[in-house]
Amino acid sequence: MQFEDLGLDKRLLKTIEHWGFDSATDVQASAIPVVNAGKDLLASSKTGSGKTLAFLLPAMQRVMRVKALTRRDPRVVVLAPTRELAKQVYGELRKLIAGTQYKAVLILGGENFNDQAKEFRKDPVFVVATPGRLADHLEHRHLSLEGLEMLILDEADRMLDLGFAPQLKAINDAAGHRRRQTLMFSATLDHRQVNDIAADMLNEPKRVAIGFVNEEHKDIEQRFYLCDHLDHKQALLDRVLAEEEYQQLMVFTATRADTERLASMFVERGIKAVALSGEMSQSARNRIMNEFERGLHRVLVTTDLASRGLDISNVSHVVNFDMPKHSEEYVHRIGRTGRAGNKGIAISFVGPKDWNSFKSIEGFLDKKMTFATFEGLEGKFKGLVPQRKKAFSKKPTQAKKTNKPTSKKAAPKKRNKSFYQGVSVGEDVFMVKKKKPVEE
Ligand code: ADP
Ligand code: MG
Repeated sequence: MQFEDLGLDKRLLKTIEHWGFDSATDVQASAIPVVNAGKDLLASSKTGSGKTLAFLLPAMQRVMRVKALTRRDPRVVVLAPTRELAKQVYGELRKLIAGTQYKAVLILGGENFNDQAKEFRKDPVFVVATPGRLADHLEHRHLSLEGLEMLILDEADRMLDLGFAPQLKAINDAAGHRRRQTLMFSATLDHRQVNDIAADMLNEPKRVAIGFVNEEHKDIEQRFYLCDHLDHKQALLDRVLAEEEYQQLMVFTATRADTERLASMFVERGIKAVALSGEMSQSARNRIMNEFERGLHRVLVTTDLASRGLDISNVSHVVNFDMPKHSEEYVHRIGRTGRAGNKGIAISFVGPKDWNSFKSIEGFLDKKMTFATFEGLEGKFKGLVPQRKKAFSKKPTQAKKTNKPTSKKAAPKKRNKSFYQGVSVGEDVFMVKKKKPVEE
């Protein structure tokens, strides 16, 4: 769909043309007309599909065309779950408002509260914020949302997983007048809290669901390698770095200790690498992300902290040094590559400890994965087979005693519980585990 067909203002079309985008993405084509028509929206689409502009363009259009309700209050508030994501939205917004009179501020947790209070006195039209900090400012009456026209929740599922429901409610209540429009974006709509809060905050929303989170990303080649132990993973990683032609590469590990260990190992070998973890100070995190975006580091080693939303188009490879515990997290991690039409490669190391996660991911993506090998680095580990649970093992014993051949019946082939031990790859049904809040 062309941007011209979405009822966008000429000035916006000019800006988009200047950026060189050929056509609108699916979520943009579906969402923009709905928002332009003044309706509330509940939308999901996969990562990297252009959701940011799907809300920023119509928000900007509204600001340009509709008279403000008040002179001083913000007209558009965008909330994002993490500081990194909020910064990214703010970056796109800045490009959109460049050369206009509209002011925007970025309000993040972990930064100076009083400086931020002063920012509000400049009467910004747009506020991009993390929810906790914005709720704090509201409590201190540093801003009023009486004049708010559009409240946008980006990655709402993640904000709720992080426990921000009370802050979202407080912000919503502070802007409770009838002329407000609310847009909610979520990686998934199949999320109880998302549905609860949508019922609470949205007014007869139009639902837009483009594909599924677990839909295969055709621009990303996924490769899996079996490995025996930590040293084996490290040897495989060395080989990846030696043989793959990567632009920038992200490595995901399970622990912070590993992020630091691997990053220093790379540095020792003359590779520009850096570790990013949730325990770092906000300014350190900002600096590292910024340097990585500017290409000052070729390798970023991190935990799930950086798996969502971040958009760095030069990331050609993602390596899962350890598999993520939650299947959706896998999709978010590999979505750091293959951005904006580029091809990406996602490489995953699957050791004994990763096996259950791997099988869940296979189930989640509904696809049987095959394993690749590097010559000379083939391991012994070939996957795990389900171990019989004690409850099941009793029956065959009984059967033996009474000499009745009922043991086959007693141990059904397909089971839902992931409980693995052994040597060869088993054919089993897997339950995708319920999502737990992702720690920052
Ligand atoms: P999401 O929020 O859905 O994960 P983003 O909004 O971060 O995705 O967009 C991903 C990338 O795609 C960004 O670099 C963005 O500039 C680019 N992009 C957005 N819309 C288009 C488009 N219509 N054509 C080409 N690239 C686009
Ligand atoms: Mg996004």
